[in-house]
Amino acid sequence: MPPVRTRVAPSPTGDPHVGTAYVALVNYCFARQQGGEFVLRIEDTDRARSTAESERAILETLRWCGLDWDEGPDVGGPHGPYRQSERSALYREYAGKLLASGDAFKCFCTPQRLEEMRVAQRAAGRPSRYDGLCRGYAPGEVERREAAGEPYVVRLAVPDEGVCVVEDLRRGPIEFDYKSVDMQVLVKSDGMPTYHLANVVDDHLMEITHVFRGEEWVSSAPKHLLLYSYFGWQPPKLMHLPLLRNPDRSKLSKRKNPTGILFYRAMGYLPEALINFLALLANATREGEDELMDLPAIVRRFQIEHVPIGGPVFDVAKLDWLNARYIRERLDAASLVERARVWAISPERLTRIAQLAAPRIERLSDLGPLLAFLFSGRLAPRAVDLASKKLDEAQTRQAFELALTELDSLPAWNAFAIETALKGIAEKLDKKMRDVARPFYVAITGSPTSIPLYDSMELLGRDIVRERLRNALQAVTA
Ligand code: GLU
Repeated sequence: MPPVRTRVAPSPTGDPHVGTAYVALVNYCFARQQGGEFVLRIEDTDRARSTAESERAILETLRWCGLDWDEGPDVGGPHGPYRQSERSALYREYAGKLLASGDAFKCFCTPQRLEEMRVAQRAAGRPSRYDGLCRGYAPGEVERREAAGEPYVVRLAVPDEGVCVVEDLRRGPIEFDYKSVDMQVLVKSDGMPTYHLANVVDDHLMEITHVFRGEEWVSSAPKHLLLYSYFGWQPPKLMHLPLLRNPDRSKLSKRKNPTGILFYRAMGYLPEALINFLALLANATREGEDELMDLPAIVRRFQIEHVPIGGPVFDVAKLDWLNARYIRERLDAASLVERARVWAISPERLTRIAQLAAPRIERLSDLGPLLAFLFSGRLAPRAVDLASKKLDEAQTRQAFELALTELDSLPAWNAFAIETALKGIAEKLDKKMRDVARPFYVAITGSPTSIPLYDSMELLGRDIVRERLRNALQAVTA
């Protein structure tokens, strides 16, 4: 038996999600328990959506959670590079092999033809699937089109008949009719691989033995298994983990509840409590067993066969309870002070805050009331305070709604980007920025005047800002 190797393979396309920490924890526990290795790989094949900021935040927050990896983009290792954008030559080589063996084909269909095909399939009530036109070209046709400079993608050749059986470690065999498996694009027209090709090539070359990943990837598994068999490789053992749920059982999403690890850190949750909480979702305790446990204990008692298939509920009240227990039972006064210091005041943050506060205070004792909002969790703004003479209620609501969507889609989180977004919102409402500033000040800082708004928002971070805007929106909607 080869030594166990697991991995977590996040895509750096947004703020690190608690679901990523959950998946990482399961992979980490299994590897550690089996005396194996745990790898972190960055899946940044989506060049348009991947950002360095997101990658940095993912690495930082997973490390904050206490999950250390043996190999990864920052620590290196014998199977590197660990960032897919640096492995293009490899994917090209393997795509070439598939083309040569006829297990993949070049597809010249235009987006317009694909769209027409999709519309026709939908109208006929058939599943949307590439119809294989380019697979059937007569000899010479592909070369002719290529020589004429027609752009193409490389697609996976999927059998038209038969059934693919995905063996899931927890769910058992799952059958997929090949007819419903799409001829997936493996290489895009710009020569970049898609997730599917890169994922399979990397799991093989990185000698991954077990893949525990989110259930949203189940339907990709038949495509991956086909790739393994075309290459003649042994696939890793697969298990798909259920998505975390809100208490009302809906999918955990940031539209409803905070989902970012950075949010929980900014709110002052301890990483041990967060990881402990996620570990309980993976493996509930038995009667009489204490729920409070550190990472070594979590690893020791971890049982992959007990990870639930039904979506575990991310119940913040339970997290609060655990966090409070950690503060009371595991931290003495000195460690509490130290934790609070690390949480609240990194030297760069403090310098920036001091520069912003200095012009606005007369005495040091003014600092407390002026800056309390930076060190608080949720604020509870009242509708009357959020009201502005320059905006009616509907406009105030609209300003918050627009801000919630537009700030979420900012690729970088900094004062300048935030200022541009908010000014754009003022313009949409046909107002001046100074007319819409008040509700935002109150929502974010709790007061109509404070240190500059955009800097405050940058300092608080995207997750806390989202939460405060959502609370403010609720206050003016109620
Ligand atoms: N890059 C994928 C993600 O972001 C990883 C899926 C997998 O683990 O295969 O979830």
